[in-house]
Amino acid sequence: DLQLSDRVQQIKPSPTLAVTNRAAVLRAEGKDIIGLGAGEPDFDTPEHIKKAAINAINAGFTKYTAVDGTPSLKQAIISKFKNDNNLEYEANQILVSCGGKQSFFNLSLALLNPGDEVVIPAPYWVSYPDMVKIAEGTPVIVETTMDNQFKMTAEQLDAAITPKTRLVVLNSPSNPSGKAYSLDELKVLGAVLNKYPDVLIATDDMYELILWADFGFHNIVNACPELYERTIVLNGVSKAFSMTGWRIGYAAGPAKLIGAMKKIQSQSTSNPTSISQVAAEAALNGGNECVKPMVAAFRERHDYLVAALNALPGVECIEGDGAFYAFPSFLEAMATMGISDDIEFAEKMLIEAGVAMVPGSAFGSPGFMRLSFATSLETLKDAIARLDKALSS
Ligand code: PLP
Repeated sequence: DLQLSDRVQQIKPSPTLAVTNRAAVLRAEGKDIIGLGAGEPDFDTPEHIKKAAINAINAGFTKYTAVDGTPSLKQAIISKFKNDNNLEYEANQILVSCGGKQSFFNLSLALLNPGDEVVIPAPYWVSYPDMVKIAEGTPVIVETTMDNQFKMTAEQLDAAITPKTRLVVLNSPSNPSGKAYSLDELKVLGAVLNKYPDVLIATDDMYELILWADFGFHNIVNACPELYERTIVLNGVSKAFSMTGWRIGYAAGPAKLIGAMKKIQSQSTSNPTSISQVAAEAALNGGNECVKPMVAAFRERHDYLVAALNALPGVECIEGDGAFYAFPSFLEAMATMGISDDIEFAEKMLIEAGVAMVPGSAFGSPGFMRLSFATSLETLKDAIARLDKALSS
């Protein structure tokens, strides 16, 4: 019998990818399935970005690049941080990676020793705890509530920090809740973090541009500039510019930490794809105008979906501020059906309603379901009609 590492046995495959695969298998069997599991925009990558990549291929820009990214892409990232976020970085504080996922992976491996604790508010992006575990760190989950808008309170954060805490993870707008922290809310969390000078902060700003809350985007460094020295900002082009397949993410932070992450990357993937880096540069230098119609479409779908979910029996959903997910509670509907396990419930909805949703337990919040609205309004209406029928019978 083949023996595998303890490390790999501690982690699970990405549940969101698993739901997408399960839906694909059922479809191949001829079943009519609406997939609301995917975590990627349904829009095409904007034309000017694709053109830049095609030009790069034709110009022969198809070789290794610097491990940490091309100088011109790093410059575009530095300008982006300055213009959009009012944050200043030098080139040695920037690392370009193969997606936001690799950025966090590099961070975990470069920062954590066995037993180091990482504070992660739930519901969380599915990959944080598993990547921490791969690095032999210990995820410390802070459970937020729907009543508190799925946001971590200052008291919760304070209680979660111990002498072993190495990192606190913030993600706003959030996958899966869609909620974003306002500047004032971040100041309150920042006041707690100021008490613990040895704790680092990772702010995952991947959904920065997909935001319609009236308070606008801020991260923890905007709220508490004194945290600049120990905050790592994670961002990328995947969600904002509909570029999930190009695999470009980037990180900015203390030069020493960025250098360590670069060392990890140099011994795993080396540089991200040369062609994709040119595309990402075109995206960042091309301005955010092309994102606006996508955000408008996401908002329209959000408004429809949240209202429609709340009209379903036993379902409750709060409004999101951004991203492209609704995260309703199905606890009452599950209780009515006598189901306590949300994975079983999601499977039942997949078979009986033909609607694929990701169970909340994947995000640390059992009893909820994540529905992606990165799909047409028509498809969403069809999904709601099917769920209504399955829940009412
Ligand atoms: N961070 C969050 C919160 C996400 O939802 C995702 C993607 O699902 C990522 C990071 C990683 O994105 P990618 O690796 O596709 O750039």
